[in-house]
Amino acid sequence: ILAARGVRKRFGDTEVLRGIDLEVRAGEVLCIIGPSGSGKSTLLRCFNHLERIDAGRIRVDGELVGYEPHGPSGERLRERRPRDIRRQRERIGMVFQRFHLFPHRTAVQNVMEGPVAVKGLSRAQAERQARELLDRVGLADRADHYPDRLSGGQQQRVAIARALAMQPTLMLFDEPTSALDPELVGEVLGVMRDLARSGMTMIVVTHEMGFAREVADRVLFMDQGAVVEAGHPDEVFTAPRHDRTRAFLSTVL
Ligand code: ATP
Ligand code: MG
Repeated sequence: ILAARGVRKRFGDTEVLRGIDLEVRAGEVLCIIGPSGSGKSTLLRCFNHLERIDAGRIRVDGELVGYEPHGPSGERLRERRPRDIRRQRERIGMVFQRFHLFPHRTAVQNVMEGPVAVKGLSRAQAERQARELLDRVGLADRADHYPDRLSGGQQQRVAIARALAMQPTLMLFDEPTSALDPELVGEVLGVMRDLARSGMTMIVVTHEMGFAREVADRVLFMDQGAVVEAGHPDEVFTAPRHDRTRAFLSTVL
């Protein structure tokens, strides 16, 4: 579903991504781990073309993300038109550390917004779907609350429901639990685990090693803008091949 080849990104003089290759198949859950500043968030942002890449190719569903497909290889590619970029982004749901809910809209209104505005669903259809999704994330009884009346864990579950409302083919999570109080982490990870079991394709940047170990089909360790190693969680966690992975794991496990 997603394939990245030789992705490079620099900010000024610092090369933040130094040739990333990765592939995610339909239904797969990939967890990305790595130290602060290793480029994890930047990589996710590239998948959505929230960052322009300097080199490489990213394909989602076989389609080149952000750039027109033609043009001789090696030559700078032409960026897609804004509305094509928006269309491509609709296929990718994104959940961040911070929830970014609209404060003046209730949970159900937050979830309905995208489908009504972008997919042209009627308000009634969108509301029905939104309530179903809120039920799925365990918030049926909180649907009509405003965000400030919800806990951080509940707000994050609304954010997940909102992303799902766009019927994405791929969900990206960037440390979705790291802004939460410890007692609220479990409910969000539980929703993500159910989502993984339902067959959703997911890329999850996380510091929750227990979750990665249990839910991930593959774990990828990044350091200094490069993939150091990737493999089945049992391999990466119990028998890491690289010293850098071992050193990182010893700080977080
Ligand atoms: P963390 O675990 O702290 O979230 P990360 O692995 O997600 O870290 P990134 O946020 O991708 O790391 O950042 C990688 C590097 O790129 C860092 O050195 C960061 O300072 C730099 N960086 C990120 N965004 C920008 C930007 N918009 N402009 C300049 N530098 C940036
Ligand atoms: Mg980050």
